[in-house]
Amino acid sequence: MLSKLLNKSFPQLVRAVRPQYTLYRPLFTPTRRVFSHNVKPKESTKLKEGIMKFLYDNKQRPIPTSEKNVILTQCPHCVMIRKKSFAAYVNLQKGTYSCQTCKTKGTFPEFSRSLLKKMNKQDHHDLPILSTSDFLGVNNKPQQFTRPIEEIEQYPRNLAGDTNMSDRLTQLHCIEKSTLELYKVGLTQVDDHDCLTFPQTSLAYDPNSTADENSFKLDTVRLKICDLEDPSQVVQVDPPLHSKESEAGLFGYQTASADCDTLIITRREMDAMAAYQATGIPAVSIPTSNYQLQEPVLPLLERFTHIYIWLDDDLDGQLAAERFAHKIGDSKCLIVNTRLGDKQSPVNAYEALKENKDLKKILSKARRIKHDQIVDFVDLREEVLNEILHPDQTRGVQSKDLPGLNEIMKGHRSGELTILTGPTGAGKTTIISQLSLDYCQSGVPTLWGSFEIMNKRLAKKMLFQFAGKDISIVPEEFDEIADRFQEVSFFFFKKKGVAYINVYFR
Ligand SMILES: [Zn+2]
Repeated sequence: MLSKLLNKSFPQLVRAVRPQYTLYRPLFTPTRRVFSHNVKPKESTKLKEGIMKFLYDNKQRPIPTSEKNVILTQCPHCVMIRKKSFAAYVNLQKGTYSCQTCKTKGTFPEFSRSLLKKMNKQDHHDLPILSTSDFLGVNNKPQQFTRPIEEIEQYPRNLAGDTNMSDRLTQLHCIEKSTLELYKVGLTQVDDHDCLTFPQTSLAYDPNSTADENSFKLDTVRLKICDLEDPSQVVQVDPPLHSKESEAGLFGYQTASADCDTLIITRREMDAMAAYQATGIPAVSIPTSNYQLQEPVLPLLERFTHIYIWLDDDLDGQLAAERFAHKIGDSKCLIVNTRLGDKQSPVNAYEALKENKDLKKILSKARRIKHDQIVDFVDLREEVLNEILHPDQTRGVQSKDLPGLNEIMKGHRSGELTILTGPTGAGKTTIISQLSLDYCQSGVPTLWGSFEIMNKRLAKKMLFQFAGKDISIVPEEFDEIADRFQEVSFFFFKKKGVAYINVYFR
């Protein structure tokens, strides 16, 4: 009778509500730049220099982009957000800017006013007018190393000139002479011990450049001096790490040419050289090996669209790699697992090179970072196979008493919420109690939480349904029926009320 009733009057009342997922897809927004008006070449040179001087004067560190005459700098509007604030593209020829993060765009005078305001400075002029002669060159930069720059520049020559030593290094570390030269690795002595020097480099605007390219030149900002036998041992850092005005640089930054869009980030200098030597892809190492990717380093990475994060393939390294990817931007990053799942394999690029592993193959297996809100087919594959092999298991719990309901709902599946609605007196409670009795008898435990009907009324109703008769006519059968009823796994929430919803879903 119930199934008849159900088929005729209830199909429209039954709704299977499935959890709703929202897909968050990391969007890569293509670089947008503003072009407003054309400026004649001569004026443009002056404009370019004026903009660069203004930025350097105000402690900004502009970074070249792959596009000629377009530099990347901190956006004065969204600098408070910190994250991704380094997103203002300034067109040096047109004198315009646009920010990728806050979408602000305008002229450079507008940009400079905002920047000065941010820096709590009084703005007396729109844009400083300068002659080329008083232009601030990188050489005017205050000396920051504790040793003379000439001495620092001598270190790579020390190594290049010492054939025995470079041969020994190649033997010891499997790093070829040409790689050592490209990375400007040098040789010096600290307390009578031979040490390797690893320069960390950045780019600085070069006003003396004659090339019409982005006029940036390589700039050594820090020197790391390490033990010759064990280069992971840092002997000295110059300037010291706590030095206030120090700038961010990366070991091997020069391996990436201006138009290069791919970069490998490693933990240590030896890893960077090993990765580059074996794959030919520009590779850098983070400033300190303690898995910190400091904020000032991020701008240097901004211009790359593909970044391989190749840290140690152990727990710490992989956690750091995911952190780095979040900082740099998940959509740009691929994480490298040197061991490819084999725990006996070398842990990083340097060890892998020494053990003659195929570094190109390792790199080709790099994985994209798993997004919290997105799954790919690999994640679902096993579950899909299970659905195919065991349709009965995944079909959901079927009702014996209400076949009409099975037709509509295809059974109750785990992970799904079904809502049955209908007007008062339509028979919702009757259907549900019949359904729960049905399920209980086939071993599916049922918990009742009624927000309106008292438990004793509910239980009485169910007992009648369970018996298939009105027990008030045959009260002498109560005990026998109640004993059988107690056998099935049936539960009620003690009190009624909305407060119990919390307990429910826990
Ligand atoms: Zn902005």
